[in-house]
Order: sequence, then structure tokens, then C-alpha cells
Amino acid sequence: MTLALGLTLHGAALQRAALAESRWAQGVFPVSRFVGYTSQFGQRNGSGGQPETHTGLDIAAPLGSAVRSWWSGRVQAVLNNSSCGVGLVIRSGDYEHTYCHLGGRTVSGEYRSGAVRLRAGSSVRGGQTIGHVGISGRSSGPHLHWAVSWRGRWLNPGHILRAMVAARQR
Ligand SMILES: [Zn+2]
Repeated sequence: MTLALGLTLHGAALQRAALAESRWAQGVFPVSRFVGYTSQFGQRNGSGGQPETHTGLDIAAPLGSAVRSWWSGRVQAVLNNSSCGVGLVIRSGDYEHTYCHLGGRTVSGEYRSGAVRLRAGSSVRGGQTIGHVGISGRSSGPHLHWAVSWRGRWLNPGHILRAMVAARQR
């Protein structure tokens, strides 16, 4: 399916419009066992004290907790690098959602964790378990780094979560 919602959530008016959009109720919170938010989206101080932009939201969760796809879509990329660690990028229409610091491993481009087997092109349902919380990459403790972009622009995942809650209350 495609997402008709073409809002970037920038600006108060757009944000109000986005919060009133019932479609957001289809979104799924991306971890099964929530502990807390450990780093918000936006400017922060990096490990060396220098300012950096944090492109996602860090959600602490017990090691091995299920990671769920926020939306139905298709795996765009399986990642394995020093910053994200083991990760996935999933495309849903104009949105891309990224999941970093996963447990499990990559084998010849395929992500494997427990019963999960995903590779570029795999389709996923919203809420499907797509992996498990780990500590791979640049990570000081078990958490999910969850980032969402729309047409290449990073969105504040906190705004998306708020819109999801608001849509369920309508
Ligand atoms: Zn992060």
C-alpha cells in the first residue's frame, strides 16, 4: 500500500494537520518491551563533546526484545557498519524507516536473528517482528535507534509517535 500522507511534520500548522490524520493509527510502536527514551531526535553532544545531529529516537529495551516494523513495506537495505551496527531500512511509500543496533547477524546480505530472515526486497507487514534489540554498532547499551525520513528528510520520530497516539484516541 502507499501512504497518501504527504506531510513532513515541520511547522505548527502542518503538525496539527498531521496529528489529526487518522491514518497514523496504523503505525506500530517499534519495540515490544519499552524501557524508556534515552536520546531524542535533534541536536546533542557527541561522545567527544562536539555537537552532532541525532537523526532518530533511541528507545531502550531489554536485550533480545522483538523489534517490529512501524509500517508495512519492503526492505530497502540490510546494514552492517560501525555506527548503525546491524540494521534495516524499510521503505513504505515516500517514507523510509531505519532500525539500528540490532542483535543477530548478516550473512551474504541477509539479516538473521532467531527465526527472522530478511534481505533487500523482502516485504514486511506493519507490526511484523523484523529483528531483535541488540548492542551492535555505536551503542553503549541495548536500545533501538529508530529513524524515519520522508522523501529524504529526517522527521522527528517523537512527533510520529504522538500522531499515532492521537489517531487512536479519535
Ligand atoms: Zn540513536
